[in-house]
Amino acid sequence: MSRFWNSRVHKLEPYVPGEQPKIANLTKLNTNESPYGPSPCALEAIRNAASDTLRLYPDPTSSSLRQAIAERFDITSENVFTGNGSDEVLAHTFRALFHDDAPVLFSDITYGFYPIYCRLFNLPYRTVPLREDFALHQEDYVGPCGGIILANPNANTGMALPLEAIESLLSRHPDRTVVVDEAYVEFGAQTAIPLIKRYDNLLVVRTFSKSSGLAGLRVGYAVGSPELIEGLTRVKDSFNSYPLSRLSLAGAEASIRDHEWLEQTTHAIMQTRDTLIEQLRIRGLTVLPSKANFILVHHPRFEAGALATALRDRAIIVRHQSSSPRLKDWLRITIGTNDDSQRLLEALDDIEKKSH
Ligand SMILES: *Cc1c(COP(=O)(O)O)cnc(C)c1O
Repeated sequence: MSRFWNSRVHKLEPYVPGEQPKIANLTKLNTNESPYGPSPCALEAIRNAASDTLRLYPDPTSSSLRQAIAERFDITSENVFTGNGSDEVLAHTFRALFHDDAPVLFSDITYGFYPIYCRLFNLPYRTVPLREDFALHQEDYVGPCGGIILANPNANTGMALPLEAIESLLSRHPDRTVVVDEAYVEFGAQTAIPLIKRYDNLLVVRTFSKSSGLAGLRVGYAVGSPELIEGLTRVKDSFNSYPLSRLSLAGAEASIRDHEWLEQTTHAIMQTRDTLIEQLRIRGLTVLPSKANFILVHHPRFEAGALATALRDRAIIVRHQSSSPRLKDWLRITIGTNDDSQRLLEALDDIEKKSH
């Protein structure tokens, strides 16, 4: 607390990101980064952009990147908004497109930033509990609302929602923005992007951080009707004209044009995931069905916090959300390479052996 902080700052409860520890030979399975890294084309584009032109401001409208994204999804650049990571895109979305005359709706287990943005922007919100099996039922989202946001696949559970459920939400709330956060969609779920042609209240938010291996570059985007995109642009231009650097613009554009790299690396991660799930289930662990690059795991014999510590002692870091009542018995584990899986399984076997 400080006497220099205003009352709004006193009330903030900021998001706590997964740690980025500096431990040698660490198997880092806690923040859903890609083990394969960015497309080589993206790296080359970034190197080329590291030139004398850096003395000039970047394109404030990201027009070339937006055009590349539009081509990728067969839409126009008026359907595309870009930002400094999808976190920034989400922040602008909450500020520009959610109303405060009724609660913003999202599930009780989802991306931890949603309630934080509501509090930051003074938006009332209501969490809608996922069912016992962690499934989201769209029919639970009834009544007046200031807007709806869901992650598909959902953060922390990895479970995906079929497009029909999203369509039902869109038609049930035609005058409110429904945001689908597709941070993990490339790992096997269905994208809602084609629906933007029929639903002007749909905003799909995407990131280069997870499947494109560019978490360090900070680029995210949103796709929706020109009306929604203009709302976001109005907020962005009242906040920061140049959220994307020249390096970010060059890297992200080359990345989205290299579709082959995305296909190869996401395919490898999905295979590693499905094998790991099988191996964990053989050992008696409960694993939720995942369409993401992480899995949510429950161990029948060890308390989750103790297991996370035991793994950490073996230089493997996973995420344990001890403050969440429904997640405190679960660990979220990022999918890495097959070697990472092997190391994890050996560590689990070792922990099991030492407990006897
Ligand atoms: C990681 C993540 C984000 C943030 O991604 P950035 O683009 O790195 O800011 C947004 N939404 C969900 C659900 C995520 O898991």
